[in-house]
Amino acid sequence: MRLSRYFMPVLKETPADAQIVSHRYMLRAGMIKQTAAGIYSWLPLGLKVLRNIERIVNEEQERAGHVPILMSTIQPADLWRESGRYDDYGEEMLRVRDRHDRDMLYGPTNEEAVTDIFRAHVNSYKDLPLTLYQIQWKFRDEIRPRFGVMRGREFFMKDGYNFDLTKEDALHAYNRHLVSYLRTYERMGLKAIPMRADGGPIGGDYTHEFLVLAETGESEVFYDAEVTDLTFGDREVDYDSVEECEAVLKEFTSRYARTDETHDEALFNEIPEERRRSARGIEVGQIFYFGTKYSESMGATVVNADQEQVPVHMGSHGIGVSRLLGAIIEASHDDKGIIWPEGVTPFHVGIVNLKQGDDEADAACDALYKAFVSAGLEPLYDDRKERAGGKFATMDLIGLPWRITVGPRGLKNGVVELTSRKTGESVEVAPEEAVAKVKAIYEAL
Ligand code: ATP
Ligand code: MG
Repeated sequence: MRLSRYFMPVLKETPADAQIVSHRYMLRAGMIKQTAAGIYSWLPLGLKVLRNIERIVNEEQERAGHVPILMSTIQPADLWRESGRYDDYGEEMLRVRDRHDRDMLYGPTNEEAVTDIFRAHVNSYKDLPLTLYQIQWKFRDEIRPRFGVMRGREFFMKDGYNFDLTKEDALHAYNRHLVSYLRTYERMGLKAIPMRADGGPIGGDYTHEFLVLAETGESEVFYDAEVTDLTFGDREVDYDSVEECEAVLKEFTSRYARTDETHDEALFNEIPEERRRSARGIEVGQIFYFGTKYSESMGATVVNADQEQVPVHMGSHGIGVSRLLGAIIEASHDDKGIIWPEGVTPFHVGIVNLKQGDDEADAACDALYKAFVSAGLEPLYDDRKERAGGKFATMDLIGLPWRITVGPRGLKNGVVELTSRKTGESVEVAPEEAVAKVKAIYEAL
């Protein structure tokens, strides 16, 4: 993309009402535009990152054997009356009435809707296990929408639902989700720690939240410092293997790590004092096992091998896809702007032309641009007639991991400058070498 032809409305001023850094940078970099409190439109740069996060979530869900669907955002109130949640859910539910005076709502979550699909089509234990998931907009009329996309009213969420014959099978689904979530967050360059949490309105005894440590996080968490050293890395886990998934769960959750709702002071104090930590965290996901709560109230049963009708065991699993943009920025930025991890960056590399209009510099930039495109990468070429300082400030703000600076002086010596956004380190290399280096970095992801 050439910046002169793009739509990236960068703001010079810091927006006054944005309290936290991720919100400020998302507005300044022209990624989002507020439509109403807690409701945003996604501008091109923000949309690119949102799509990258969505793609990673999809890839990891499919790797785990989960099946994508897309449910409607509008749901009939009657479904929620069946589960008993229509009255319980309270003011967070956006309720509307259609022209026939039927009560409808904008889905805040989809346990009822997915159970309705299941009961309409699945009758036998032979069709289990089954996990259906979607990535879809949700609406929750939050009392205090704030921090930009972190606590929106309209937000993008991956929600998945497993259907299993037995509790053991459903717990395997739970563990499988834990493994897939660990992989998902790491691919986004994030450290998200699974912590024992509270079931809340969805209910259930088994639940973990995934938290990214950040001062601006809304949750209070307590953990053993050793949990922050755990990384999933590139190990291969067989998702069908009960033992392998359980081993990962044990490894990642046997240390003390809990949210304030489940915090146990006595247990916490058993950890050596120098390893005890209390901090703030951003919840980027949560997994639940809740048994037959919805299948019993809504009649989602299957015949088992003994020809008996039994309610299925279920769980649900959520990832805050739009919240993740904020969480990633909170975890990765400096005072100049965002530092995108390579896994989610909106463009792979920025090209800065120091002397737009200079034949040699223009030709070198065009050649670099073409070379990146043929390598399957997306460059953002700042081809505006602007001062170098302004171009650098924009590149730093929007946070592309790699920048190539091209100017007449370097070209005389046959070199361009390749700069890492993260470390600020630069090397002078031949243009072909710059392309090869950047290409190798992305290939290794
Ligand atoms: P919270 O405690 O932050 O209100 P929740 O526990 O109610 O979230 P879940 O039902 O577990 O949310 O939803 C799954 C994920 O969706 C959460 O882990 C979070 O990342 C994201 N999410 C929930 N509410 C919002 C919101 N208002 N804005 C953006 N993302 C949200
Ligand atoms: Mg939650």
